[in-house]
Amino acid sequence: MVTTRTVIENCAVATVDAHDTEHPTGHLVIAGNRIESVGPGPAPAGVENVTRRIDATGHLATPGLINTHHHFYQWLTRGLATDHHLFDWLVALYPTWARLDEEMVRAAAHGSLAMMVRGGVTTAMDHHYVHPRGAGDLSGAIIEAARETGVRFTLARGSMDRGVSDGGLPPDFAVETLEGALAATEETIDRHHDPSPDSMTQIAVAPCSPFSVSTQLLTQGAELARRKGVRLHTHGSETTEEERFCRELFGMGPTDYFASTGWLGPDVWMAHCVHMNDTDIAAFARTGTGVAHCPSSNARLAAGIARVPDLLKAGVPVGLGVDGTASNETGELHTELRNALLINRLGAHREAALTTRRALRLATHGGARVLGRAADTGSLEPGKLADVVLWRMDTLAHASIADPVAALVLGAPAPVTLSLVGGVPVVENGRLTRVDEDDVARSTRREARRLAELAARG
Ligand code: ZN
Repeated sequence: MVTTRTVIENCAVATVDAHDTEHPTGHLVIAGNRIESVGPGPAPAGVENVTRRIDATGHLATPGLINTHHHFYQWLTRGLATDHHLFDWLVALYPTWARLDEEMVRAAAHGSLAMMVRGGVTTAMDHHYVHPRGAGDLSGAIIEAARETGVRFTLARGSMDRGVSDGGLPPDFAVETLEGALAATEETIDRHHDPSPDSMTQIAVAPCSPFSVSTQLLTQGAELARRKGVRLHTHGSETTEEERFCRELFGMGPTDYFASTGWLGPDVWMAHCVHMNDTDIAAFARTGTGVAHCPSSNARLAAGIARVPDLLKAGVPVGLGVDGTASNETGELHTELRNALLINRLGAHREAALTTRRALRLATHGGARVLGRAADTGSLEPGKLADVVLWRMDTLAHASIADPVAALVLGAPAPVTLSLVGGVPVVENGRLTRVDEDDVARSTRREARRLAELAARG
């Protein structure tokens, strides 16, 4: 079979390779689903079987953005409990979330995916931990929505089994049994996980948090993940309330508790990691445990500022996360580049906290490391998957900013002219190519109303 090629020329290129190589004017050649060459100036002469040649004048090419933490279902419950901290906010929303069914989850997944992909995300993830009894095949619906959008995807099959009567935070009617959660997670791995380098769908084992799952679910979930060779994901060290909860129930802080249940390692990544002392950070660094930094959500829920500069200095893999849209209503990852930089500069390291290049690295290569996919994605280098975004930089919003990476990180959200996943366009001229945004908007509105009505009935 003949390998067809796409040539992109005349754009600025930020490769996010190991040396942060940038080209003020450069090119990319894409052969099949992989990058064949990237460099300064026009594409080499004599490139054959070119089916598409793009003059990308006025654009910046970067690796596609990689989201490492999200809860798609929350697309239907945005803008609620807006003045709460995490525990109050969860308690306010659990009863509504417990009413979710397959159609609602499908619509919410489409809404969350559409918003992210339109904004330059090429690898998405969903941590779905609400599985009401009789709700249908929620994992299947989410994976199908991702497939339809065309994005690369990790489903973290979440679970909760510690209800109020066991000292947990969620109401008893919102949790699964230990055995039920483990069996359903294993079935999801067997049905959907593809470990190949080109994989479009991967599954992770993802009990929700120390305050909503049993110690057995953490321990046995870790054993299941390692038996199956998949990654492990959960929330950790998000708030001072969680720290207090762990000390009261387990007699130790969250990081020590995770260590005692098999939850530190190069195959683990955790959302938030805000309240970590130096010993906790050293434990993450020593074990290669990754972090999904979610600055907007942490601010919205008044959780605190994660010590990202210290995590990076220690060598901890760090990516960025939107987090669920009930705590970050925009649902867009490119705003997290900006907020990661701004919020971390409010911390102890001030202006030395993060650079614009470091922020872009968190959202691309950092995310790939956290998801275990850095060999194949996260930077623009020959041999890597052609997950590439062309950001338009010549409009009113950015045209007067000379440095395109600074424009992308600090400026208004940049329009996406083209987004490729494995060389296949998922966005053209700011619009999704595979799904109709207006249909998605209508279905999310309908399902959000249905959920609100069901919840109001009690
Ligand atoms: Zn979360």
